Amino acid sequence: MEVIVKIFVFLFGLVWGSFLNVVIYRVPEGISLLKPRSFCPVCGHKIKWYDNIPLFSYLVLRGKCRYCGAKIPLRYPLVELWTGLTFLLLWTNFHPQPLEMFRGFVFTSLLIILAGIDASKMLLPDIFTIPGTLSGIIFSLFLPPGLKSSLLGAAVGYASLWIFYKGFLLITGKEGMGFGDFKMFAMVGAFMGIQHLLPVLLLASVAGVFVGIGIMVIKRKKDLVLPFGTFLALASWAIYVFKLDLIRLSLKFTL
Ligand SMILES: [Zn+2]
Repeated sequence: MEVIVKIFVFLFGLVWGSFLNVVIYRVPEGISLLKPRSFCPVCGHKIKWYDNIPLFSYLVLRGKCRYCGAKIPLRYPLVELWTGLTFLLLWTNFHPQPLEMFRGFVFTSLLIILAGIDASKMLLPDIFTIPGTLSGIIFSLFLPPGLKSSLLGAAVGYASLWIFYKGFLLITGKEGMGFGDFKMFAMVGAFMGIQHLLPVLLLASVAGVFVGIGIMVIKRKKDLVLPFGTFLALASWAIYVFKLDLIRLSLKFTL
């Protein structure tokens, strides 16, 4: 029975991921989320329902539009798979606690949206980061890490990247990141609390450096701008999920 429930949770995650893809593409373009129905951005052809099944359609179409053959970005199946996996993890980690589960759903959806928009447009829109920060603070009224840690997390998250940005600008004369990154890190602090800011920042930076060097070696480029928000999202996601696993594990060992 448990396995069947998990399969449903995963499938529901794939469907939600497909909606997050719509948000990732449409919000920065200023297109309504409801109308028009899904279309190919290259040829404008409406996409039939059977070509719009999460993951499955991408595989059947081999990543190309049925009408014009334009490549469908790999982001689409990746976001769907990532969301499916996230739903499964949220379910296994919190399923007797509805409020925890709801917060996890809101937080991870915001992270996936921001990761996708930053990767494709180098943008972290305020419309997600500012309400995201507020909702993280509201959840902390009822859940750990508590209001104090959440407020401090938001403030220190914003300030720390701002200082980093100013320092980087002073030393190199370049902008290492943007204001969207500060607001996104404030959101992460609001949801996860001040104690998780440093681990998230370290993991995001290390991952960014490794991927950056990898791309520069493969593509033989000397200069490269990476979407830091995408790495922040991946690091926050990993620590958010992993931390809960550690708590469960330590509970198992101590009880
Ligand atoms: Zn097309």
